[in-house]
Amino acid sequence: MIALALLLLAPPADAYDLLGYAWSPEDLCLEWWMTDYVESSLENASSYGYEDAWDAQASVCQKAFANWEEGAPCAEICNTFLGVDPGNEGKTNDGINKVYWDDPTGSLGEGVLAVAAYNVTAEYLREQDGEYLYRFGDVDVTFNDQIDWTLTEEIEGGVPCSGGMAALEPVATHEFGHLWGVGHSCEEGDPCTDEALRYATMYWANDACDISRNSINSDDIAAINALYGPYATFTTDTERFGGVPLTVQFRVVAGEDANITGVLWSFGDGQTSTEMAPAHTYEEQGQYSVVLKIDGNNESCGDWSFEYRQRAYVVACEAPGPGLAPGGSPYPGLFTYEHLEGLQYQMVNRADTSVYGCLDTVIWQIYDDSDTMIQEISAWSPIVEFPSEGAWRVVLNVGGPGGLSAAELVIDTAEHAGGCNTVPAGAGLAGLLAGLGIALARRRR
Ligand SMILES: [Zn+2]
Repeated sequence: MIALALLLLAPPADAYDLLGYAWSPEDLCLEWWMTDYVESSLENASSYGYEDAWDAQASVCQKAFANWEEGAPCAEICNTFLGVDPGNEGKTNDGINKVYWDDPTGSLGEGVLAVAAYNVTAEYLREQDGEYLYRFGDVDVTFNDQIDWTLTEEIEGGVPCSGGMAALEPVATHEFGHLWGVGHSCEEGDPCTDEALRYATMYWANDACDISRNSINSDDIAAINALYGPYATFTTDTERFGGVPLTVQFRVVAGEDANITGVLWSFGDGQTSTEMAPAHTYEEQGQYSVVLKIDGNNESCGDWSFEYRQRAYVVACEAPGPGLAPGGSPYPGLFTYEHLEGLQYQMVNRADTSVYGCLDTVIWQIYDDSDTMIQEISAWSPIVEFPSEGAWRVVLNVGGPGGLSAAELVIDTAEHAGGCNTVPAGAGLAGLLAGLGIALARRRR
């Protein structure tokens, strides 16, 4: 019974959702426009102190922006309203952030109050809460003109809420949450037992005349802070791509007002540091993800913390060696070959490609018996046709940031003349020779 009660009372803690997009600091203050379309249900706005319906539309949207900026002082967001932009064509990918009403496209279905539509870019910003964030291109918000939009002043003034009415300000505040990159606190059908989620402005629905969601709540604030709160990143003052041992000099990059009180680096190889600018040496080949946990304290946020992660940030390479065969043990050499027919042989490159970036050069060289190079090939596993019967020396050079390795085999094409074209797997004695240390490695840098 107790176990069951715990199960019901303590569901896994849920939290805000991020859309996977955010604005770059370069996009702020965020500029936006409003269509010249006039929403007819707001035509009584002049009795509430607005110049006219259009002024009410624009003013409520500015208020909705302010609800986020004032409700979350720790988030570095701001906006600039640029006024009227004629045309009410609906969502466009024109790089302009604009508020529309639903005429003439009529694309919003019944029951939909408003939508935010995003045009996004492929520019990666960072990873946040385990999600990759990309930069917004532009966002357009469209309100459904089938709704009897109602001003906060009307509801506060006691206008009875009747069919078809909906409060504009909480809907605008919700849509602008999407515009900043915040998803829903709960979706339709979620149990949503946590009150912070149930009463968030970013809850998926709103009761028609409920203006309590004009103010953002703790969950909304956590979400916007995650996107635009204080943060720090890192960079390096040395190459982070090279041969082992690779010493990388790291450095925290933070705004002046971040006021960092502590850092914890995880270098991806099991080592950590609490220095602001540590130098770390990678001894083994690998791709390393680096994580920086930052704690700070400043006036608008109080204590804050942030985790910045860069996957595959450091690539440390050894000179290329043989890769792993299907059984899990390394191939005996950097390459093997198979006889095809006549003087044609298939070279099979066995170099290790397990660490992306550690192998960027492949050159095959064919030498005759007087040690003159007769051919140079840069394919991965080429087919080689030798000029005649005899002994040919084949050299494979593979290299990358960790240095250059070479291996060679002598292929006697006379062995396969006269109709004998069977070659043992692994290229027989020659393959063994390759395994016995012909693979020469010399450090390139
Ligand atoms: Zn929504």
